[in-house]
Amino acid sequence: MKNLSKSYNSVKALTDVSFELQPGQMLAVLGPSGCGKTTLLRSIAGFEIPNEGTIEIGGETVFSNRVYLAPEKRRIGYVPQEGALFPHLSVAQNIAFGLPRGLKRNERVREMLALVGMEGFEKRMPHELSGGQQQRVALARALAPAPSLILLDEPFSALDTGLRAKLRDDIRLALEKTNATSIMVTHDQEEALSMADVIAVMRNGEIVQFAEPDDIYTTPKDLKVATFVGDTVLVDGCLNGDCVECPLGSLPVIHQAIHSDGRNATVMIRPEQLTLGERNSGISAEVIKTTYFGHDSLVHLQIGDHENSCQVSIRVLGKPQVKTGDIVGLQVNGNVMVY
Ligand code: ATP
Repeated sequence: MKNLSKSYNSVKALTDVSFELQPGQMLAVLGPSGCGKTTLLRSIAGFEIPNEGTIEIGGETVFSNRVYLAPEKRRIGYVPQEGALFPHLSVAQNIAFGLPRGLKRNERVREMLALVGMEGFEKRMPHELSGGQQQRVALARALAPAPSLILLDEPFSALDTGLRAKLRDDIRLALEKTNATSIMVTHDQEEALSMADVIAVMRNGEIVQFAEPDDIYTTPKDLKVATFVGDTVLVDGCLNGDCVECPLGSLPVIHQAIHSDGRNATVMIRPEQLTLGERNSGISAEVIKTTYFGHDSLVHLQIGDHENSCQVSIRVLGKPQVKTGDIVGLQVNGNVMVY
């Protein structure tokens, strides 16, 4: 996709969006509500006509200022949020819908049902399936004609948390088996980080960062991306060479972070970089409060004296081994980001 823009009257839904995907990759388009994710997906599918830009799929131009290929000619599979299935058709008929007539049809339906783990459901009607089963069938239907690209628009949004996690793994596996290239829209950072090969973080119609999940998480482009993709511990600091001086000590800065000496900066640390130890290890901190959540707990800490102090909260597994008033040692592991 090159320089794609789309406006609805005065609303700029997409501004100058460009990116490239390799065959077989999964891209997650991640961003808050209204940032243009669905418009991007619908433009690729051919349901929206952009104002400017070019879209190529497998080397073929499907949209430019001179070309507009109709959705059915783009060889794309589309899995919408929910309600994707034809209610009056059985599971088998739904999957066979886009396939050419012939003997191989039934074979392909069975193959697709096996791929999504739904053998034996051929005769069921959509209303006789759970939400998760419906989404599996919707994916099977989208994959049946062997499209070059699969588009998934928040495919798990209607499902509860447990089912989501299971379906995530299964869908990822099914896509890997068919080697399909896919683009999934989501506003769930966990979904994007766990499923995608690359993530495009969108804001106000623009892609603010396009990178692999690990890069997005460890070196987010700005503070908004940092807080959008995970929990953060933020403290004030001052840059000094490759380090930043802050109440948590002199911390090495990730080399990608652009900085200059003496500048005041916000230091971004991921909570799992912080560990608690004996009072003589690391930075001395006082426990202000602990909050127990079952599988983990939050420990709120006061660090430093009046001029150079801050409070941070860190997560520890299970019940905290410390209590209010304890003096503990806090260690920061790895390099930190600065903004
Ligand atoms: P969500 O996560 O809530 O589905 P989104 O990121 O998919 O949001 P889009 O649906 O692409 O966002 O919308 C992008 C912007 O374009 C929004 O400001 C929206 O109000 C506007 N918009 C979308 N469709 C239309 C339309 N048909 N007419 C006018 N404005 C529209």
